[in-house]
Amino acid sequence: MNAPMRRYLDHAATTPLDPRVWQAMQPYFEAEFGNPSSVHGYGQRAEAAVEHARGRLAAALGCQPEELLFTSGGTESDNLALRGAALAARRQRGANRLLVSPVEHPAVARTAEQLASEFGFELTLLPVDEYGQVHPHDVARLLTPDTALVSVILANNEVGTINSIAEIAAICRERCVPLHSDAVQAPAYLPLNVDDLGIDLLSLGAHKLYGPKGTGVLYVRAGTPLRATQTGGSHESGLRAGTHNVPYIVGMAEAFEIAQAEISQSINRLIDWRDNIITTILEQIPDSRLTGHPTNRLANHASFVFKGVDGNALLMLLDDAGFACSSGSACKTGDPQPSEVLLAMGITPEWAEGSLRITLGKHSSADDVDALLAALPALVERARKLERIHR
Ligand SMILES: *Cc1c(COP(=O)(O)O)cnc(C)c1O
Repeated sequence: MNAPMRRYLDHAATTPLDPRVWQAMQPYFEAEFGNPSSVHGYGQRAEAAVEHARGRLAAALGCQPEELLFTSGGTESDNLALRGAALAARRQRGANRLLVSPVEHPAVARTAEQLASEFGFELTLLPVDEYGQVHPHDVARLLTPDTALVSVILANNEVGTINSIAEIAAICRERCVPLHSDAVQAPAYLPLNVDDLGIDLLSLGAHKLYGPKGTGVLYVRAGTPLRATQTGGSHESGLRAGTHNVPYIVGMAEAFEIAQAEISQSINRLIDWRDNIITTILEQIPDSRLTGHPTNRLANHASFVFKGVDGNALLMLLDDAGFACSSGSACKTGDPQPSEVLLAMGITPEWAEGSLRITLGKHSSADDVDALLAALPALVERARKLERIHR
């Protein structure tokens, strides 16, 4: 029997490295291996590469280079934003409350919980609607003078929904409370200008946009109080110690510039396929529902729940048939709990357990979409039969 063709439909989990990015990174693994903190020529050339990357990222985001901190990825950027801004706000103005959406990536959600359980912050969760959207009027209603920080995800990793960050930012600005947004899923599909967004802290990572894993950036608007959480040398203005990962930083700048430059091309290629996936699945698979907003969602992102299905069993059946998909969050593999994000949107556990996320990318083809749509109805039916046997 021939092995089925392998089709990667999980670009929200990670993306392959763009060859242009790899090319930009290579010299810094080889001849230009210096430590940017060293005084000699090796160090100077490595430092110049880091600062050039910072300048390119700043130009793309519309900020000053000094407002960017390099980190080890989206998770660290989220941790530094929340912990660093919460501790600074407490120190500066005695603020003790965190206002966070219930549909955050675990990098934000677990950090906020730890700030509550270990550091004594009061955590207030914002409501979301059935699409996973935060409404600005709820932010206005729940924001108090003792709020240290508000955090609302820009584009949701599990359900693709895009939040109205600029409107939320205007409210936070008026009340002088900093707003953080996790934008890790956004750069390949949404233009990101920090002033248009009105944001104070923005988390980015490279590996969701055809860059390398293990590198990220945190934008911190000038004047936003932040405490260091990783201490050591004086790297990154003393706010994030550790020798710079030079090749990865160079790769991230290259990947981010390409992603932002190719947004309309990416959207034009993918959006009709996305909508075809959504319409066909809802039509052909009984007891299926779209999760997330029908239109205000990432152009590459289609996500569903199927009643009476074990999401992980469906993923295995899909994998055997050659399709690499996800149940929503790559961080939950092996964890049978239904997604907190789906529950927060009011989806019952019975439905939420059968979640499926299909995320297209640069190398996806019409053939990938057709093959998936041809195979999926029967695979969902098989997963339902398995589920009935197991009960
Ligand atoms: C992937 C992801 C993260 C974590 O980023 P890493 O670079 O993998 O640590 C954080 N937030 C969102 C929304 C993500 O999709």
